[in-house]
Amino acid sequence: MILGVESSCDDTGLAIWEAGQFIYEQTSSQIDLHALYGGVVPQLAAREHLRNFPILLKDLQKQVDLQRIKQIAVTCGPGLPGSLALGIAFAWSLRLALGCELVGVHHLRGHILSPFIEHPNFRKQNNLFPHLSLLVSGGNTILSSVDETLSIRVLATTIDDAAGEAIDKGAKLLGLRYPGGPEIEQYAQQGDARKYIFPQAFTQDGEWKFSFSGIKTSLRYRLAALTEAELKEQFRDICAGYQRAIIDVLVKKLHQALQHDHFGSIGLSGGVANNRLLRERVQELGAAMYLPVFLPKPKYTGDNASMIAFAAAIDPVHTTDTIDFKPNWPL
Ligand code: AMP
Ligand code: MG
Repeated sequence: MILGVESSCDDTGLAIWEAGQFIYEQTSSQIDLHALYGGVVPQLAAREHLRNFPILLKDLQKQVDLQRIKQIAVTCGPGLPGSLALGIAFAWSLRLALGCELVGVHHLRGHILSPFIEHPNFRKQNNLFPHLSLLVSGGNTILSSVDETLSIRVLATTIDDAAGEAIDKGAKLLGLRYPGGPEIEQYAQQGDARKYIFPQAFTQDGEWKFSFSGIKTSLRYRLAALTEAELKEQFRDICAGYQRAIIDVLVKKLHQALQHDHFGSIGLSGGVANNRLLRERVQELGAAMYLPVFLPKPKYTGDNASMIAFAAAIDPVHTTDTIDFKPNWPL
């Protein structure tokens, strides 16, 4: 039995993995608090983790005999220092109380492996590797290749904003609530994406990087040129165009990677992987290339402890037994 502990940003999570499945999964979100400030406030996030861990632990205790936990797997980084420190301190304390093993897990490995949570025997299928992974969240945009030993080779990252960050900043300019992704998606569904064309950076073949800061600047200028009545009338089209530009870039890069190298499968992860249009477009790409596509369930897209327990369970080689606190841990 493995207990996963996650607190790298603003979600507090505990999950128990036993015999190939989850018997407990809980995530406590702080979105309502941070929405008041238009983004995550690090000190408040740490304070909330301190409050939430004991609540989650009490809930876990009601459902699972803690003495049966053999290992605790905790996110050691990357993430917000205060948030990570609380998760690590919580895991250490519990480890001392239970006398079990404690290992550290890389948060981004958790995300990258999350599309396989519902396919725990994926490692036995050699033809799925190398696996092409696209991790798109509020803090990261990482295109990578995962081999059969689950070593990760980064192919492209963003030089400025992450895809989710661009969505959130765009949403803020549009006067929408944080986090902006779900709201922009709703308006975009009713809009025409061809009416507003936004810039797409580094879409040429061989440009192994992403940039999403220009699109946000472009939105700012376009909004400044509109009257209030025009904005109201064209709001849905703007959302559709903005969302489309970001998704187009992501899908184009996936396509280019598939043309450069041989891959056995495609996976999508991170909070932006909730987006329906992105999911559809990646599935279409997989079908066109005759490749299986792995999409995590929505509860495994944002930060969660299940992906941390899963990463430790299926891939002990890449866990660490020195529980260092690593806010800037590279992949
Ligand atoms: P994470 O950083 O993994 O916790 O994911 C949060 C990010 O995902 C934020 O930037 C959200 O705006 C974004 N996000 C969540 N749901 C959606 C969605 N349906 N469409 C686009 N982005 C989304
Ligand atoms: Mg995350």
